[in-house]
This record gives sequence, structure tokens and C-alpha cells, in this order.
Amino acid sequence: MLGKLARWLRILGYDTIYARGEDRDIVAEAQREGRVLLTRDKELASKGFLIKTFSVEEQLKELLDAGLIEIKEEKMMTRCSLCNSLLKPIEKESAKGKVPEKSFENSDSFWYCEQCKKYYWIGKHWIDIKKRIDGLTP
Ligand SMILES: [Zn+2]
Repeated sequence: MLGKLARWLRILGYDTIYARGEDRDIVAEAQREGRVLLTRDKELASKGFLIKTFSVEEQLKELLDAGLIEIKEEKMMTRCSLCNSLLKPIEKESAKGKVPEKSFENSDSFWYCEQCKKYYWIGKHWIDIKKRIDGLTP
């Protein structure tokens, strides 16, 4: 239910697991790994944090207001938004031919996820995300 929020938390640099399975297993895993359990389920929320809103912007705002997250530029682009692995900064030359030509020309910094074999760079999509996040912080 909170898959989109999970991706955004990774974009913000947070180690985020999207849990599936039985409630008690999810609670046990969160406790074992020292994670904050985010949920929409009121029952489960007694063991974690209840997300009340629906849009991802509002959800991030809830977490910001609760002091659970911070939005810091230097933490962004550290995790793969798909799989949560740490991204590896790579030389611009290594991205040549692997990313769209325009993106290659317009960016100087590139990252790579070894798990997903996916390249990241600060493109238009990223700038839009950044604007939306900036819109959240007063
Ligand atoms: Zn990945």
C-alpha cells in the first residue's frame, strides 16, 4: 500500500524495505533490524507509525513533522529507488552509451546499481522530484 512512499524514502537516502507477509513477521523483522514500521493499518500502527494521508507528498510531510526523516541533499542519490541497494558513483566515461545521449551530455555525475544494473543521473525527472520535495519544506 505504501510502495510509492518506500521508493521516495530511498530517493531521500533512507534504507527502506517494503515488507510483505504476515503482520507478526513484519513486526518481528522491524524490531530485529531496528526499523521504524510505517503502516496504514491501525492495528499494526500500535507497533509503528500510522500513515494517515494518501498522496506521497503528504505522507513525506507526516514523517517530516514527526521528526522521522530529514530531507538532505547530500543523502539523496545514495540508494537505488527500486531495490534499496547502495548506489555506486561512477566515472562519466563508464556511463557512455549506457544512458540516453542527451542525458550523457547534460550530466556530469552518474551512479550505478549493481543489483538492478541500472544507471542513475540527475535528469529532468530528478529535478521535478527535487522541486516537489522542496515544496514540502517551509
Ligand atoms: Zn537497484
